[in-house]
Amino acid sequence: MSTELASTTALVTGASSGIGAATARSLAARGARVALVARRRDRLDQVVADITDAGGSAFAVEADLTDEARAQAAVHSVVAESGRLDILVNNAGLMLSGPIADAPDGEWDRMLDINVRGLLYVTRAAIGHLTDAARDSPRGVADIVTISSTAGRVARPGTGIYSLTKFGVNAFSESLRQELLAARIRVGVVEPGTVDTELLDHVRDGAREAMRANVDAIVPLRPDDIADAVTYMVTRDRRVAVNEMLVRSAEQT
Ligand code: NDP
Repeated sequence: MSTELASTTALVTGASSGIGAATARSLAARGARVALVARRRDRLDQVVADITDAGGSAFAVEADLTDEARAQAAVHSVVAESGRLDILVNNAGLMLSGPIADAPDGEWDRMLDINVRGLLYVTRAAIGHLTDAARDSPRGVADIVTISSTAGRVARPGTGIYSLTKFGVNAFSESLRQELLAARIRVGVVEPGTVDTELLDHVRDGAREAMRANVDAIVPLRPDDIADAVTYMVTRDRRVAVNEMLVRSAEQT
């Protein structure tokens, strides 16, 4: 345990697995009190138990963030429990890849609902609380870090709608960054390459096998590698804003 983030509260969306769970553990290990938000309560409780067993502080908030009222309530319940919000990590997301022409009904909406709408609902609900934390805390700054993707910088066949959401996330984050300068809220994106998580499990039959083969052909990133990037961004001195980090597997094209 270190104390770089002592007295802060961090909210991590999609903290029940993969990159979100690793990020929650990493921020807690730096002294942050971490609120873990996602739908699968049993998985959230397991990560909370891991963090508290390691001497950290964490609690779970079960919420489907595609529902605007539930997303707002989740943010407000974190502040009600902790009294503050210093760091927001927008991580919850879905990748449902495959050719655009063959997409099953509803697949695009599922991605847009969490990758875009859920992100917007949580972010808007958090801004006022982050502003208060930046103004009132000795740290003098607050943070929003959003997990985008290499697919937010490079579009390839089969990832059209996913790329649409992640290019959009980057544009949104850059606009928000400029809007929130005066509030001393740093806004940044981390763009992971291939990370070995449950992300592929949701990809439709037929497309998933090819994507799995691509992952198996290289040594992929681990969730901790992305957690490291997020942690680096939010532990910089207040004079430093790391706005973008592109982190690929060393074997990835
Ligand atoms: P996982 O599938 O392991 O994690 C996704 C997380 O999002 C889960 O915790 C899930 O929780 C949560 N989530 C999904 N839908 C909702 C919802 N409606 N409400 C609340 N939470 C939700 O995959 P990753 O860890 O890989 O993905 C995390 C982020 O990283 C995503 O934004 C993804 O696009 C991005 N990314 C991943 C890459 C990779 O190669 N793995 C590469 C580049 C970017 P639950 O189901 O419990 O609700």
